[in-house]
Amino acid sequence: MPHASGRHAMTAGAATAPTAGLAVRGVSFFRSGTSVLEDISFSLARGRLLAIVGPSGAGKSTLLALLAGFERPRSGSIEFAGKDWTNLAPADRSIGMSFDDAALHEHLTVRENLDAAALPRGEPADRRRDRVTALVHTLGLGHLVDRRPAAISAGERRRVAVGRAFLRAPQLVLLDEPFANLDRTNRFTIRQLVRELQRSTGATTIVVTHDPTDALAIADDMLVMVRGQVRAFGVASEIAAQPIDLEVAQLVDDLGMHVLEVAANNTCQDAVLPSALLSHLSHARSKYSAHGAIYLGVRPWHLRVVAPSDSAVVVTTTLLALEPAGIFTDLITQRSDGRILRARVAYESAQNLPIGTRIALYFEPTDAHLFCGPWPGVRLDAPNSASV
Ligand code: ADP
Repeated sequence: MPHASGRHAMTAGAATAPTAGLAVRGVSFFRSGTSVLEDISFSLARGRLLAIVGPSGAGKSTLLALLAGFERPRSGSIEFAGKDWTNLAPADRSIGMSFDDAALHEHLTVRENLDAAALPRGEPADRRRDRVTALVHTLGLGHLVDRRPAAISAGERRRVAVGRAFLRAPQLVLLDEPFANLDRTNRFTIRQLVRELQRSTGATTIVVTHDPTDALAIADDMLVMVRGQVRAFGVASEIAAQPIDLEVAQLVDDLGMHVLEVAANNTCQDAVLPSALLSHLSHARSKYSAHGAIYLGVRPWHLRVVAPSDSAVVVTTTLLALEPAGIFTDLITQRSDGRILRARVAYESAQNLPIGTRIALYFEPTDAHLFCGPWPGVRLDAPNSASV
């Protein structure tokens, strides 16, 4: 179980002694006098797979560079298994890594690239060869071992780069954007490979990705970074299910989250709120002393074109277009203030909807996320089926 602290961090519990794995405490870092990382603290038990997500420029790669030892923090410490890594050179940390555009040796074959990564371990040659052969098998690259990187595909190169990071059985594996610029099939392959290698080696693994779908597909834990700070940290599925504010809510789901503003007098433009939800809102207002607007967040895939119950929220919008999305159809609709509301609904329920007309969309109050302002808001207790 992870544990985090810091000005904007969320504590996610610490069932396992945090020092057993990675402990990052109060790390800050500057570039050209500008703060890039501010008071980063979190601890990660050994053998966990952590995804770091956040928008471009949030400081994800910089944090990875500090963990690798390419950069030194201005303040704070980095510890692994009780050993102080803060000022250790990369070679003195037990790490494997694959960073952006992982550089394979272009003049070496696939096997030689892997051999080169396996070398400095001081083990008998036949054992090392066995390890490389086993990895080649796991990577599914047996037929390509004698090719040079230029003669294999982008997905195959990425497999070599990711496999290489785990080869020396390091304590900590750092992967920067391992899914970037790959087609869907290759992304799925790399996801599976990361999971498999992480499980078989037991290495504590940190993956940086800007894509929440990739993160949720593989990670045990998730750390959300915004503007150089830890905004949320904890079990990945819990962070996605109960985002602590509206910015995190946007970052942890590919489709984002729609926001309906409920004014202090409980009115909501374009929407009709059921009475049970209104009384829940009043209760939340007094509990949290939230006197201004309250924001109702709803995921696009919780919206329906047919009322799921008598107590559903009703939102009236104009249907602009239909977008096929596999077995679903996305309804692109517009609210009266011009904002787009996307609804991901079953293919069948989208048929014959008249484009250009007003339609009603519905969602259950129990699917709403509640936040009070100001931006990015603070999560309030959401209604549950017992209270609404
Ligand atoms: P992310 O990985 O989340 O996209 P980065 O860690 O790459 O973010 O960047 C964090 C911040 O540091 C950004 O504001 C970026 O512009 C800045 N930065 C990154 N690399 C450099 C560099 N080599 N020189 C100066 N600023 C940099």
